[in-house]
Amino acid sequence: MNELKHTTIKPISKDNLMKLAKKYGTPIYIYDSCKIQEQYEKMNNAFSRIKKLRINYACKANTNPNILKILKKMGCGLDTVSIQEIEIGLKVGFLPKEIIFTPNCVSIKEIEKAVGLGVRINLDNLSILEQFGELFKNYSIGIRINPHIMAGGNKKISVGHIDSKFGISYYQIPHIKRILRNTGLKIEGIHMHTGSDISDINHFITASEILFKTAIDFPDLDYLNLGSGFKVPYTQKDLKTDLIYLSNCITNKFNDFCNVYGRKISLIFEPGKFLVSESGYFLVSVNVIKHTISTVFAGVNSGFNHLIRPMFYNAFHYIENISNPKGRLRFYTVVGYICESDTFGINRKISEIREGDVLCINNAGAYCFSMSSNYNSRYRPSEVLILNGEDFLIRKRETMQDILRNIVEINMERWQSG
Ligand SMILES: *Cc1c(COP(=O)(O)O)cnc(C)c1O
Repeated sequence: MNELKHTTIKPISKDNLMKLAKKYGTPIYIYDSCKIQEQYEKMNNAFSRIKKLRINYACKANTNPNILKILKKMGCGLDTVSIQEIEIGLKVGFLPKEIIFTPNCVSIKEIEKAVGLGVRINLDNLSILEQFGELFKNYSIGIRINPHIMAGGNKKISVGHIDSKFGISYYQIPHIKRILRNTGLKIEGIHMHTGSDISDINHFITASEILFKTAIDFPDLDYLNLGSGFKVPYTQKDLKTDLIYLSNCITNKFNDFCNVYGRKISLIFEPGKFLVSESGYFLVSVNVIKHTISTVFAGVNSGFNHLIRPMFYNAFHYIENISNPKGRLRFYTVVGYICESDTFGINRKISEIREGDVLCINNAGAYCFSMSSNYNSRYRPSEVLILNGEDFLIRKRETMQDILRNIVEINMERWQSG
């Protein structure tokens, strides 16, 4: 299954990151495939007592096709949330059955397209379930259950609570069953995903118990899907999901479930952040140092157009000065060049920063490039992948052509002002 050889190459050093900044210029995203492989193996090993374990990479975290190819080689399937992500997955070579489509609030038309492509579909809405049953009663599907758990690093990324737009409430199971009876539709999987960056492991355990209890009443299952939300550390002291502990709590219960159910079915996880977050480094250059009455700002050649998590979620990304790593530690607020409040980190202790220095923003592999934009008409950065110690450009920096590609210019001569 695992085609990539176990590599003994160490994670990329800060010196080598500096070399790549010089070679390719900044701002730039660097991804280290070693780390992705390490995370994948950690997960596989932790759950090794589950016979039919499947790991589907949630590709919205990072959709560069080269990253998808690496994960495919390791043995991953794919978790997708849009028809476009499905298309990228198929292009990269995933088989339709290795792709799960878990959309939210998309049109039945988009779901029909996914049926056409033959992927696994996971529905989270009674109205869509009814319509789907009318159209495709022979196409087995999964359903996403909302277990009513408040989990996740912050409210914006908590998706399994009672007021969330995701999933069908587990109180509505009788309604689901009525739709199944009325339409003849078959359910092949039950799914839950309660949030991202979940620090309390009990949330996973509670969710899994609800999942097992719910699933026992559905006779045609092929899989249970426990979603993801695994936490990775953003600093040295930060918490992370203890997979061994989690596996100890879940494995026996899952195997017991299969015994009672009468069949061995698959258990799926769909990690995004866990697999790729720590593999990524975002390198930026310092344009200016600016002293105000209370603060020293380091203004860099990037902003929330390239990495929005600090501004959008108040996420903490550890920042280091890799061009002066031994400098005296001083306090800086690192800000972007976007004309709006645009702060990467407030009052951070960083080795002395000079104009022209290169800063490294860590944990930049998940939800960073994939959430980037062209705000302020800036180009999106390039991306580089380290594979077996070699660096490969996997996305070119944009140009003015990219920014203007879809603009249709109209003839203004016909327009009279005033
Ligand atoms: C985003 C998403 C995931 C991945 O979440 P992470 O916190 O990145 O692991 C998994 N499943 C679904 C349905 C998602 O939408």
